[in-house]
Amino acid sequence: MKKLVLSLGLAAALVGPLAPAAHAWGFFGHRAITQIAVYELPASMQAFYFRHLPEVVRKSTAPDERRAKDPAEATRHFIDMDHFSEEKPFAKMPRAFDAAADKFSADTLHKYGTVPWTVIETKNKLVSAFSERDTAAIITYSAELAHYVEDAFVPLHTTVNYDGQLTNQAGLHGLWESQLPERFITTYKFDAVPASVLKNPLDAIWEVIQQSYGFLSATFDLEATASKGFTPQTKYTYSHRFGKTQRRYSDAFADAYNKLVGGQVDFRMRTAAPMVASFWLTAWQEAGRPDLGPLMTPPKLRKTEKDSLDSQLKALKANTLAQDQQLLAQRKEKKVEAPDEVKAADAGEALPPPPPEPTTPAETPTEAPTAPAKVKIKTKGAAGTEKTKTKP
Ligand SMILES: [Zn+2]
Repeated sequence: MKKLVLSLGLAAALVGPLAPAAHAWGFFGHRAITQIAVYELPASMQAFYFRHLPEVVRKSTAPDERRAKDPAEATRHFIDMDHFSEEKPFAKMPRAFDAAADKFSADTLHKYGTVPWTVIETKNKLVSAFSERDTAAIITYSAELAHYVEDAFVPLHTTVNYDGQLTNQAGLHGLWESQLPERFITTYKFDAVPASVLKNPLDAIWEVIQQSYGFLSATFDLEATASKGFTPQTKYTYSHRFGKTQRRYSDAFADAYNKLVGGQVDFRMRTAAPMVASFWLTAWQEAGRPDLGPLMTPPKLRKTEKDSLDSQLKALKANTLAQDQQLLAQRKEKKVEAPDEVKAADAGEALPPPPPEPTTPAETPTEAPTAPAKVKIKTKGAAGTEKTKTKP
């Protein structure tokens, strides 16, 4: 076991430069979840957030957009739990940053990810923004808080093997968080779960991370299962950009993988939205529940806004938001993604965008998968089945 940990650690260090590719949820997923979170707020907050919906949604990807410019940004988006221990890492990791830094060193935490503490830090900035009645800051930090909370919902954000790069599954990150949601959003089962005040926000985000970690085995293993019907030629699509060949999973493979793992992606997306709304609500509560009306001009939603909110809430209830193209994430806009992001949409003219409506939604698993009670192995390597060698 120790040997494996070392080899994973070494490999993680060697593949470090690939890190910019790991952007949780892609822009599409982040924006969809953030929009749905607005519908789950109590009325006392919802009018303000709905008035600013396009901005909150758009800015929810700002933390990814600045990764290319700010080298300190990247590690705020994940935490590689298996770096800290292969066995029961959550039992060994103190929840509070100071205690964790005492045990593992602050440098190590900054290297292997700080997402739980970034969530709390950003939540505290939002509390201040509410206290100061600062509209622009409320929008900015609500959007950024949404981003980091959403990142914590992605299983591949809890492992050194974040892209399947250690188990010959490179590209898995983009497949899971971008290609699948973009292809299958209309088959996902969104529902309106009202936000609730979090008694302990730090515990809440740790719980999310532990659940994410619990889904890792399935994330990797189901890729291997889906691969059985494919050859390297059918499993991948190659494209050439800027003199480089890029490989991504083919749409046919995405369809096969989705049949196995789609319920999991759906579940993580669906449960992320009320958690985002709950973090917003908790920040507002901590700031003393300020009246947001005076921050709006006019202070209440106009008739047209009210009607449009009502129809969107209805669509959410009927789970037709995506089918009706009511998600802002579905709108075509000029690409603003970070230049180093590698994802399906980047593949250029050789790869047409996926159809908006998949034709075989019937086979998509709809049951929420249950996370394993015991959090165990997280890499194919640890399972010892195939291709455990890491590439120097
Ligand atoms: Zn991120």
